[in-house]
Amino acid sequence: MSSPRGADRPRGRRAARLAAGTLVAAATAVVALPAVPAQAAAPKVVYLTFDDGPSPRYTPQILTLLSQYGARATFFEIGQNVAAYPEVTRLVSARGHSVQNHSWSHPDLRNLSKSAFQYQVTATDARIRAQTGTTPGCLRPPYGGVNGTVRSGAAGLGKSIQLWSVDPQDWARPGRAAIERRVLGAVKPGSVVLFHDGGGDRSQTVAALPAILRTLKSRGYTFAVLPCS
Ligand SMILES: [Zn+2]
Repeated sequence: MSSPRGADRPRGRRAARLAAGTLVAAATAVVALPAVPAQAAAPKVVYLTFDDGPSPRYTPQILTLLSQYGARATFFEIGQNVAAYPEVTRLVSARGHSVQNHSWSHPDLRNLSKSAFQYQVTATDARIRAQTGTTPGCLRPPYGGVNGTVRSGAAGLGKSIQLWSVDPQDWARPGRAAIERRVLGAVKPGSVVLFHDGGGDRSQTVAALPAILRTLKSRGYTFAVLPCS
């Protein structure tokens, strides 16, 4: 009965029960099939994102590390920082990374009037477009603050809202090792990782990146830009 042919030619009640069991198992397997290959085939892509730049100090260091590992990333920049350091935004784009919208001055967009919201987004768009030639398709609201106002305002301007799925809280400067551990312990295929290249001392973020890039690469991951067009 252990041979597969035994199940094909059942004899007697026990054999019939076993054959029925085989059929049930086969049916279950068929039902489960769509989920299993989809999981197995999930591309090992991770989306690294950097908020609050550009920074003349930290962004170029991050660009150097990314290029060392053949990694592309998405930078959610603040309009007034783009105005202050346009050459850094230009460099980010020239290195093949994606520059997207993180508002003009980093307010909580949930609390703004419609016209103030529109200014935060469109003034930033204009500054980024002037440096990269491309209008951002993605908006990352500061603090991840999303409500109905933000959703409808973003939709009205043709923006897709992009948050994140892995947050090592690098902005709080928990130490290089903690940033590495938090990212490497949480990344799965398709993860969107939140880092910061501006808004303060980001030396810990810079220091954590080599181990993060090296380890994820050794796990078979590639690093892509978010689809924001
Ligand atoms: Zn931010």
